[in-house]
Amino acid sequence: MQSNHNYPLKNNNSFNIKASCSHIYFPSNLAELQQLPDLTATNFYILGEGSNTLFVEENAPVIIQPKFHGINIDEQAEHFLVTVGAAENWHDLVCFCLEKGINGLENLALIPGSVGAAPVQNIGAYGVEFADFCDEIQWYEFASKTLHTLVKEDCDFAYRESIFKHAFYNKGLITHVSFKFPKAWQPNLSYAGLDSLVKTSSATEVMNQVIALRSSKLPDPKVLPNAGSFFKNPVVSAVEFTQLQQRFPDIPHYPQANGEVKLAAAWLIDQAGLKGFRHQEVGVHQQQALVLVNYGSDLGCDIISLAKYVQRIVNKKFSVMLTPEVRMISAEGEQSFITLNDANPIGKLHHD
Ligand SMILES: Cc1cc2nc3c(=O)[nH]c(=O)nc-3n(C[C@H](O)[C@H](O)[C@H](O)COP(=O)(O)OP(=O)(O)OC[C@H]3O[C@@H](n4cnc5c(N)ncnc54)[C@H](O)[C@@H]3O)c2cc1C
Repeated sequence: MQSNHNYPLKNNNSFNIKASCSHIYFPSNLAELQQLPDLTATNFYILGEGSNTLFVEENAPVIIQPKFHGINIDEQAEHFLVTVGAAENWHDLVCFCLEKGINGLENLALIPGSVGAAPVQNIGAYGVEFADFCDEIQWYEFASKTLHTLVKEDCDFAYRESIFKHAFYNKGLITHVSFKFPKAWQPNLSYAGLDSLVKTSSATEVMNQVIALRSSKLPDPKVLPNAGSFFKNPVVSAVEFTQLQQRFPDIPHYPQANGEVKLAAAWLIDQAGLKGFRHQEVGVHQQQALVLVNYGSDLGCDIISLAKYVQRIVNKKFSVMLTPEVRMISAEGEQSFITLNDANPIGKLHHD
């Protein structure tokens, strides 16, 4: 198996933070996975393309970056089954499928990252999520050194959630993802921005519109490093929501099946006056308040200070605590945002 030591990770995270790890392993097949060292007493992190990852300090833990490649198409009477290696790029997969006449993923175009990471937070955009087309996941378990096939129902998919963040967390890694795409296809134009398209639009036309919309709103990480939405959209109880709506009648809200109410984190940040806010080399994006951007810092702790500042100011105005979607990684492995130290609090004295 390919491996390396004292490996720089600056080009392996979309925030472009300077970090390095003592060891990195690149398993590309089952035999190589079985050669991985025993990780039970080691801090480690499974890395895809690092577009949802923030290295919070210069030292990173041991890294495993799966290198399973390949796309296999099995055409059936009613649908296509497509099995894809975890290391394939997500957007390349979307384009590949559409070129082959396999429709379904067009609303998820231009989401950065690897195919193997897509199930982890059940990526979603423009009214579609990964789970809508998931058939099976091949998952390698470290303890038993065996591969397991998980059907979609095993994966507990929900909004930005799956079993891979919880019961299966750090117990194994995804090697392949299988999708089921029904041949009977209709465009999903329910989402704002796509409703201007006609019902007879092709999947490629939908994809092009999604690309145009995303490019106009979201900064390209290669130009302005970022990790997409930094915070999740918060979900509050019906009682909390009623109180909020009395104070802020225009507050955007999305009632959930269980009676709770989802809020738009971007609106909260914008209304708190933080859209376009910049502190030294980090800031809140000018067009999309949910995206924190790195103008040139090497330090993950600068992003942490900014995120804690945003969280504090939003909480002060709305009594709503934003929680990050991005994964925070230190030498000790993944960290909870709450416990991370804010070495240089922004505006602690004059803004709060
Ligand atoms: C500009 C921009 C826009 C974005 N827009 C969206 C969006 O619209 N919707 C959305 O949902 N997300 C969005 N994201 C977030 C990001 O694209 C997704 O989270 C993506 O799935 C991350 O892929 P990655 O390979 O870079 O993951 P990484 O950041 O490398 O890892 C993310 C998580 O997945 C785990 N992981 C990675 N590979 C594996 C594997 N093979 N097996 C097990 N665990 C694994 C990691 O341990 C980590 O916990 C955006 C990000 C950016 C930068």
